Amino acid sequence: MKFQIIPVTPFQQNCSLVWCEASKQAAVIDPGGDLERITAAADSAGVTISQIWLTHGHIDHVGGAERLAQQLGVSITGPHEADRFWLTALDQQSQKFGFPHMESFEADRYLSDGERLTLGEVEIEVIHTPGHTPGHVVFYHRDSETAFVGDVLFHGSIGRTDFPMSDHQALINSITQKLWPLGNQVRFIPGHGPGATFGDERRSNPFVADAVLA
Ligand SMILES: [Zn+2]
Ligand SMILES: [Zn+2]
Repeated sequence: MKFQIIPVTPFQQNCSLVWCEASKQAAVIDPGGDLERITAAADSAGVTISQIWLTHGHIDHVGGAERLAQQLGVSITGPHEADRFWLTALDQQSQKFGFPHMESFEADRYLSDGERLTLGEVEIEVIHTPGHTPGHVVFYHRDSETAFVGDVLFHGSIGRTDFPMSDHQALINSITQKLWPLGNQVRFIPGHGPGATFGDERRSNPFVADAVLA
């Protein structure tokens, strides 16, 4: 598996282009917008985008999903069905956050904890991590110990929980009970800002370091 991070939207959301080196099949995780930058990155990497995967339903992560799906003739996978209400209210999200008007949409397939996604020879595990939103999922590539965590965890911070249906304790549980067991060496790509390892956060993250939660 190879990947490239493409910051998109005014929120500098870390859209990731992920691909299988053998088949050159690619997935786009969280195409929030700036689609020409995403397709240009795929072109220069010499890969074909065949899937769109969503971590959760917030506009900076999903705002370009439907248009990209139509443009490329591919389907939209994820997040967990508990985030459907965010996707079906995308028109209201675009108004509220000052984005150009966007039509609401539905995923072609919602995901459950423990499901596996296949991209050529690459296998990705789906981990349901509610808290920031109820249907948030993390995409985990076990072979390279790489996790695409969306807005669950950031380097030095965690996701906001002041949205409808957010749950602070659920978020803490998702991080400590679903992510930490994968190992301190796992590197994560957050939805915003620089990546790090789970071990880094367990040492120094002011919200979820071991010493803070002890
Ligand atoms: Zn979010
Ligand atoms: Zn975000």
